[in-house]
Amino acid sequence: MMKNPYSKDFPQLNNGSVYLDTAATSLKPNSVIEAVNHYNRDLSSNIHRGMYEAAVETTELYESTRETVAKFLHAKTDEIIYTRGTTSSLNLVAYAYGLENLKAGDEIIVSELEHHSSFLPWQFVAKKTGAILKFVELNEEGRITVEAFKKVLSTKTKVVALTYVSNVMGYITPMKEIISLSHQYNAICVVDAAQAVQHIEIDVTALDCDFLAFSGHKMLGPTGIGILYGKQKLLNIMEPFEYGGDMNDDVNKDISEWKTGPQKFEAGTMPIASVIGLQKAIEYIENIGLSTISEYIDKLQRYALAQLKQIEGVKIYNPTSETGIITFNIETVPSHDAISFLAEKNIAIRAGQHCAKLICDWLGIYSCLRASIYIYNSYTDVDIFIEGIKEAVAYFKKLGF
Ligand code: PMP
Repeated sequence: MMKNPYSKDFPQLNNGSVYLDTAATSLKPNSVIEAVNHYNRDLSSNIHRGMYEAAVETTELYESTRETVAKFLHAKTDEIIYTRGTTSSLNLVAYAYGLENLKAGDEIIVSELEHHSSFLPWQFVAKKTGAILKFVELNEEGRITVEAFKKVLSTKTKVVALTYVSNVMGYITPMKEIISLSHQYNAICVVDAAQAVQHIEIDVTALDCDFLAFSGHKMLGPTGIGILYGKQKLLNIMEPFEYGGDMNDDVNKDISEWKTGPQKFEAGTMPIASVIGLQKAIEYIENIGLSTISEYIDKLQRYALAQLKQIEGVKIYNPTSETGIITFNIETVPSHDAISFLAEKNIAIRAGQHCAKLICDWLGIYSCLRASIYIYNSYTDVDIFIEGIKEAVAYFKKLGF
């Protein structure tokens, strides 16, 4: 069987584990690890402040990463804001745009597929402003469809906050059509791209989304860095979300002024090492190409699903998943018991509600298992995983589960 050409770039794989938990966080390639180390080892200094060599190089790397992200998303550099992660990005939009622009009776469209970080900020905004949450009805597979979306869209809709790829079902939302329809009603669209950006090409200009959020750590980058893309005209009318150093232009006892552009939203010392690492993560993905990545993942996923379907006692919830996410249960076995068994065999998958309780409710389950595949996984990983599941089924059956 063909050897995986990428696994050698991921040193954590040397620990012998079968890592199928990328949807929680990805492994990091050597180039990302080295970039983070380079900053910590050789460059430690703050940005936009010092004139000494390390500070200048650090500022250059920090700002050139912004250009890399902008090109990656087909955005303008000034539309790229650094945050702590998807959660921070989505909260920033809810606080700085939602609280200011929504009023009682306005409607916010969400779905049961949302991760808590794409749902709870809007539940909070609804509570504070009197706006109403509307849920797109999912189809029988658990997907958001354009037809169902049209049924909840109205002149009252002001915000559409949807996941581009569900972290539980792995489906791709038909976002372009949804955004185009939303704009006909003057609603803005906030896209949670945390599980999309590492799988599908995102062109925010063609997509025409108003805001889009993702995390570095799910796309081969370091933790602690996220991106918020926002249309310039919206960012310009928004107040800062956090106040402090580096985001102000002039500070006075009575009134102060803010910087324009992304810096208005980047108060205090930012996660500089992680920003620098993110640039290398994007370069790594671009060097392989997202179409090559998704083709490979698709093959591996189909290989895994074909075998998993044959195992009696396994229930798969998303057999038509499109992004390497396989969600299932060993029927009658609590998911945390199942992952403990697999962990003993060095197989890393996740159990629980995946910060997406509403979709677990929709599926009628308390929790589930999730295996997620990425570019560094191999056919051997899948074989070991399938063998582990077979052994788990037999083991728990023997115990009377
Ligand atoms: N949205 C989705 C779809 C996710 O999968 C996640 C992470 N599980 C998040 C948002 C939140 O990302 P973070 O924890 O990096 O802020």
